[in-house]
Amino acid sequence: MSKKEELISKGYKAYENNEIIVFWKPDLCEHAAECIRGNNQVFDVNRRPWVDVSAASAEEISKIIDKCPSGALKYEIK
Ligand code: SF4
Repeated sequence: MSKKEELISKGYKAYENNEIIVFWKPDLCEHAAECIRGNNQVFDVNRRPWVDVSAASAEEISKIIDKCPSGALKYEIK
């Protein structure tokens, strides 16, 4: 099973482009907003979908996700 299949089976949603897959599990999110503080173009709760992986480099997105305190956000670099 790929990481993507595994995380989706655990309730994560996936947002992806050619460089990165961002995973998010709503019920784990503590609304600490580290993601929004990191880049509010990538992470915007007023937009659907709220994650836009095209709004920053995969490297920048991965560094922001590393600060998510809850494990609600995860990523896989392609
Ligand atoms: S940083 Fe993680 S816990 Fe905080 S709002 Fe973003 S996804 Fe939720």
